[in-house]
Amino acid sequence: MVFQKNKLGLVRVTKSLFRLYILRQMVPLFVIWYLTNKCNAKCKYCDIPLREKKELPTNRVLKLIDEMAKRGVLRIGFVGGEPLLRKDIDTIISHAKNKGLMVHLYSNGFLAKEHLKTIKKLDGVFFSLDGPEKIHDSMRGKGSHKKVMNAIKLCNKYTPTFVTSVLTKKNINYISYMSELSKKENFLLNFQPVLQIPSLSSDISSYKLSETELKKCLTNILQLKKSNSNIALSEVYLKRMLKRNSSTQKKGYQLGIVKCWNGQAACHIDSNGDLFSCIHLNNKEKALNLKDNSFGKAFENVHSCSCKTCNVTCSVEYNFWLSLHPGAILNLTNMLKRIRRNSK
Ligand code: SF4
Ligand code: SF4
Repeated sequence: MVFQKNKLGLVRVTKSLFRLYILRQMVPLFVIWYLTNKCNAKCKYCDIPLREKKELPTNRVLKLIDEMAKRGVLRIGFVGGEPLLRKDIDTIISHAKNKGLMVHLYSNGFLAKEHLKTIKKLDGVFFSLDGPEKIHDSMRGKGSHKKVMNAIKLCNKYTPTFVTSVLTKKNINYISYMSELSKKENFLLNFQPVLQIPSLSSDISSYKLSETELKKCLTNILQLKKSNSNIALSEVYLKRMLKRNSSTQKKGYQLGIVKCWNGQAACHIDSNGDLFSCIHLNNKEKALNLKDNSFGKAFENVHSCSCKTCNVTCSVEYNFWLSLHPGAILNLTNMLKRIRRNSK
């Protein structure tokens, strides 16, 4: 975590955590920012490229980053669409890094080579890979497997590289394959069951895992994690997901397995600048737009999430960290040690 390497970063981390845990204030530690809806791929489960193309202009994005740094943000994850399609992406990432923020990028990898100089500045880059070529290309388009594999091999030399495998009915038999590949190529591996997100996903009913299939996958991942430290998901997450049932989904435990901190310590920004506590609520929450509102005002407008139950599993690890769960924190510490070792 680059922000911890300098004094300014340490002061910011301490201040932000003090405000969150001692003063019980809302502090936007983690921001997920959908910078654009444009994309050079067309994955079967995704409708993002079909959404409106309105984006915040460069000068507004840079000003908001300045404000975020002042408000105690620690980490920004830039998402799309394909964020590398924004002409100003190098400026945006460099600016966020200069402000001492931890910056991650979520990309399909098609343009990784062209942006390598900027990727080297990141604290981590996330690619998606759903299995071997035939499986991956059937979900994400012909030729996309080759492109993402090239990106993984290239970026892994310079930047902590994470690979997320979106679990659908098509690839549930390739979990061990992905685990072996993570060892061979030495990347950190996540699994994410395909999700139905309002206005962002296409109809996923034919790909979505049944509860039985999901539990089979989680059992498999848990087993593989014992001998593969490249699997980034924590044991506590996997075990709680396996035990989850409708009775554990109660208020204050909205994910069914842990408290959700969205709206209190994290938020999502849509490509047009609307700020939500969670992108999954983009059809429910009244967002303020960052074109005309300050980041602080828009964040204060969202409340710690009001949903009572949710099956969303993305971002769940940071909910465990923020809940100070020892197992998840130990898993994070091991992961950071591994990243540090690799970067020497
Ligand atoms: S999943 Fe990502 S890469 Fe695929 S179409 Fe959607 S935004 Fe593009
Ligand atoms: S939808 Fe789920 S992830 Fe989003 S705020 Fe609600 S509980 Fe949290």
